[in-house]
Amino acid sequence: MVTFSLHGIGVSGGIAIGRAQLVSHATLEVAHYAIPPSKVGSEIARFETAVAEVQRELEALHGAMTGDDLPGEFGAFLDVHWMILNDATLSEAPKRIIAEQRCNAEWALHQQMNVLVDQFDEIEDPYLRERRSDVVQVVERVLKRLMGKPGALPPPSAEEQTILVAHDLSPADVIQFKSHRYGAFLTDLGGVTSHTAIVARSLNVPAVVATHNARQLIRDGELLIVDGNHNVVIVNPDRAILAEYRLKQSELELERQKLKRLRLKPAETIDGIHVELYANIELPEDLEPAVEAGANGVGLFRSEFLFLNRPGLPSEDEQFEAYRRVAEGMGGKPVVIRTFDLGADKAKEGLDGLARVAPNPALGLRAVRFCLAEPRLFHTQLRAILRASHYGRVRILIPMLASAGEIDQTLAVIAQAKEGLREQGIPFDPNVAVGGMIEIPAAVLAIGAFLARLDFLSIGTNDLIQYTLAVDRADEAVSHLYDPLHPAVLRLIANAIASARKARVPIAVCGEMAGDVRLTRLLLGMGLTEFSMHPAHILAVKQRVLTTDVAEIRPVVDRMRRSDDPARVAALLDRLNA
Ligand code: PEP
Ligand code: MG
Repeated sequence: MVTFSLHGIGVSGGIAIGRAQLVSHATLEVAHYAIPPSKVGSEIARFETAVAEVQRELEALHGAMTGDDLPGEFGAFLDVHWMILNDATLSEAPKRIIAEQRCNAEWALHQQMNVLVDQFDEIEDPYLRERRSDVVQVVERVLKRLMGKPGALPPPSAEEQTILVAHDLSPADVIQFKSHRYGAFLTDLGGVTSHTAIVARSLNVPAVVATHNARQLIRDGELLIVDGNHNVVIVNPDRAILAEYRLKQSELELERQKLKRLRLKPAETIDGIHVELYANIELPEDLEPAVEAGANGVGLFRSEFLFLNRPGLPSEDEQFEAYRRVAEGMGGKPVVIRTFDLGADKAKEGLDGLARVAPNPALGLRAVRFCLAEPRLFHTQLRAILRASHYGRVRILIPMLASAGEIDQTLAVIAQAKEGLREQGIPFDPNVAVGGMIEIPAAVLAIGAFLARLDFLSIGTNDLIQYTLAVDRADEAVSHLYDPLHPAVLRLIANAIASARKARVPIAVCGEMAGDVRLTRLLLGMGLTEFSMHPAHILAVKQRVLTTDVAEIRPVVDRMRRSDDPARVAALLDRLNA
């Protein structure tokens, strides 16, 4: 077996050694095999069962979405899918193909889908032409049923670590790993702060993205070493390489164990500045690692993950239970719940149909923009968060705000939700703090509107970098341009921190920069005292805080902030970390 290596971007550190498991995309890799004449009847029945199951699935989706939770577009979208599924071109024609060609049901359906897609491509009317993607989505649903894995990832093998190799994975796919326990994963596509990468970090397993062609070059079952710290994957390593990496692996584990001793130590710099280290979480289950790492609270609960990987939307009660669990789990420590940030790379079937067909989803109807466009949905979530505020120290954080008008609209919806609860006699914290994320350059340049209206701010550096440099954070083709140390980015972050401190409005950083130990001193030198990051990074960042004298490093950071020369910025960063 030939040993070779692949390079990508390590988005989550550590070393994993295990066997490759390839994931395929349903519509791309449909099996084709012949059916003996005696089995044609049962193959047709198998197809009919799958169609009936998807019919029930669509009905359940409709049923789960009554009343307040139902945005108009979602209902219409389900109706379209229902019609496509029940049209004879999709529900009958494949049966004829199975009988005529004596082929398996998946193949028959796939062929029929291609015929339909070709017909749609020829339609002049752009609206009708768009329905082509609905046909593909309906076919995917039926294919998944036929393949017996509705939306699920393959189970990892029990004996050895399994390393998932995929062309691309959505954040919704990766969040499923939380219950699956893969050893690591690789993807051909992806950017360093894509949500796929962020979720990978929270799983605490090594991950390398943007490998370009790992999915093509690696075979199922091959032995792999994934080194997330050095951006490399070694395929079929020989014994000497394996021994070397096993040693490195145990050294890393030893370091991890040592850091655990810092768990209960307050994070204070040498010159006595107290720093709060909060956890970023995606689901209530993430509380455990947050508490284990000694987090001072939750600085960012990405609530939109409650909406992914499930049919329909979570009801108010379901959301309330999740938020309450986190509020209580933190035992009186602050919990910042971000209202849902769907759209762009966090797709929800149906709901963000709006965003997915948009010409540029990252600049489209995402996050608070989507919430304000769907006030009923927003209202439901706000009621759930407010109800949870009675059970802990809950704060509300609004993503992607750009203007005073949006803040005022949002505050009005919050006031309305409070009023409704008050009328119903449902308890909530009337003084619940409302904060805004600083993710768009406009928010920094016109920060006065934010400082005047909001109780706290949190800088989302992942998006701030994306929007400042016009670099799609999820696109590996431009990932080399995604630069947290770009002088424009540093200036925006420093200005936001300075303005907030002057106005005595608390400000945190909750983007990936907060969990990168190479940048801890830079942020401390800018005056930051609140960091929110994935629990896995808290102890390493704490160690860096404990060994920093802010007064001593501040002049170096000031020089970094003033410099327009990337080479000089890099040299100064080295000096900070020496
Ligand atoms: C950010 O943009 O930095 C952030 C924390 O939010 P998200 O990564 O979920 O967009
Ligand atoms: Mg963001």
